[in-house]
Amino acid sequence: MKTYKIASIPGDGIGKEVIPEGEKILAALEKRFPQMKFDFERFDWGGDYYRKHGIMMPEDGLNHLRNKDAILFGSAGDPKIADHITLWGLRLKICQGFDQYANIRPTRILPGIQTPLRNCQPEDLNWMIVRENSEGEYSGLGGRAHQGHPIEVASDISIMTRVGVERIQRFAFAIARSRPRKKLTLITKSNAQRHAMVMWDEIACEVARDFPDVQWDKELVDAATARMINKPSSLDTIVASNLHADVLSDLAAALAGSLGIAPTGNIDPQRRYPSMFEPIHGSAFDIMGQGLANPIGTFWSIVLMLDHLGENEASKLLMQAIEGVTANPILHTRDLGGQAKMIDVSNAVIKAIHS
Ligand code: ATP
Repeated sequence: MKTYKIASIPGDGIGKEVIPEGEKILAALEKRFPQMKFDFERFDWGGDYYRKHGIMMPEDGLNHLRNKDAILFGSAGDPKIADHITLWGLRLKICQGFDQYANIRPTRILPGIQTPLRNCQPEDLNWMIVRENSEGEYSGLGGRAHQGHPIEVASDISIMTRVGVERIQRFAFAIARSRPRKKLTLITKSNAQRHAMVMWDEIACEVARDFPDVQWDKELVDAATARMINKPSSLDTIVASNLHADVLSDLAAALAGSLGIAPTGNIDPQRRYPSMFEPIHGSAFDIMGQGLANPIGTFWSIVLMLDHLGENEASKLLMQAIEGVTANPILHTRDLGGQAKMIDVSNAVIKAIHS
């Protein structure tokens, strides 16, 4: 019997609704696979915690998570608190504190889901976006001075290090190698960003030598948006900087049918620290408390978590259960044009796990 210690951080908005459903899914999987057990500890960090304590999570918060096997995260965002506070005070604090430098975002059109792309068959869009998650444009370096005066100045400094670039590119090449098409597209902007992005391209050429079986190409980030729409099947694994991948992966989620479905994992590939899994959607306060949130993004994130933990049989079963449910339009939530409630989707997935 293997017991996994899981930290669950619902966070804000619909995170508080979808994460408890995710816990139910893991409880259902426990019954189906009795050799595997999940020991949850829930943390009430986020916007409400900030209102009480003036911080999004306790100063020693990382120490509470350090000994966990994985973290299941909902969302951080609150209409009454500035976005940079909610983001840097919780999610990025965990990502950076645990050096979760690889962010993975699988994107596929699940059965029964409509893509907004005309003439795109589900098999044409099957991507794995790998996002650099520790430096680049979101390094956090920079500052502001002379606030409110005409001479006010502000900077966000994008930093790329050889170590940071090489490790994410190696990780992406390895993922590309593990997928059937063995194909990687490197997203760049080395025409306009003439220092760090040129180094980014050069390091890719070096890393590629160790992966002769991976076929790779380069695409400027602006051209990549058009390629995702016009020739989705020409892409497979995609690696991009922190900002570029942030933007491309939201586009990817929309092309695959809904933000409510898309999953992500913030991974420490060296496994020195727990990795963190979360739906890519935010707190969506507009639908909060109405039972309308689509929980599939959370459930698919749990698939990634199970893969990371090496529980491949359970992850396969859960993915099949999810696909069986999305295939049925009666079980589509409002974001997919349906009438189902979150609880209907959740119950259907649990039923499929037990059947
Ligand atoms: P944040 O500020 O935390 O990033 P947000 O509300 O600005 O959050 P998102 O939550 O990412 O942005 O989503 C934008 C919109 O997409 C939401 O307002 C909501 O209507 C819809 N949406 C997002 N996630 C879901 C979901 N899981 N189920 C249904 N609709 C969703």
